[in-house]
Amino acid sequence: MTVALYPGSFDPITNGHIDIATRAAKLFDKVVIGIFSTPEKRLTFTLEERVALAKQAVAHLPRVKVMPYSNITVDFAREVGAQVLVRGLRMSADYEREFEMAMLNRKLYPELELVCFMASQDYQFLSSSLMKEVASLGGDINGLVPRHVAAALREKGVSKM
Ligand code: ADP
Repeated sequence: MTVALYPGSFDPITNGHIDIATRAAKLFDKVVIGIFSTPEKRLTFTLEERVALAKQAVAHLPRVKVMPYSNITVDFAREVGAQVLVRGLRMSADYEREFEMAMLNRKLYPELELVCFMASQDYQFLSSSLMKEVASLGGDINGLVPRHVAAALREKGVSKM
C-alpha cells in the first residue's frame, strides 16, 4: 500500500489544494493531508479550524485523510507510514523553495520520494494568501474555494461578500 503525505499550512484549503489531493488520490492508496501547526506564522485560522475546513472539503474522497502535525514533516511522514511526499508546483514561484526543501528532506529521510504535481491551469495563480487579499478587498472568491470555506472567511471578517 502506497501512502502519500501532502503537507502544508492550508490557511485555508483552496480549490487548488483540493485539485492536487484529488489527483494524488488517483495514484496512491492513501493520501494524508498534513496540516502543520506553524506557530511562527500569522495565520487566519487556528489549527483546529484549518483541519475542520479541510476535512469537509475532502469528505467526498475516501482515500484522503486530514491530520494535524507539529513535528518536522519527514518525522510526520514516518509516523503515518508515507513513502511519498506530495507537493504542488505553480509556475516558477514554488520551484526554488521546493527544491531546497526536497534536498533537506532527502538528507533527513532518503527513502521518502517527492512527487510534485503541476498546478492545473485554473489554479496556477491561486494561493491562500492571495485569495484572502482578494476576499478582503471585496473580490469574488467563488470558484477559488469551496462554499463552506467562503462562509468561514465571512465569519472571520476576512471576506465581505
Ligand atoms: P506551505 O506553507 O507549505 O506552502 P500551503 O498550504 O501554502 O503550504 O501549500 C501546500 C502545498 O500546496 C504546497 O506544495 C503548495 O505549492 C501547493 N499549492 C498551494 N496552492 C496551490 C495551487 N493553487 N495549485 C497547486 N498547488 C498548490
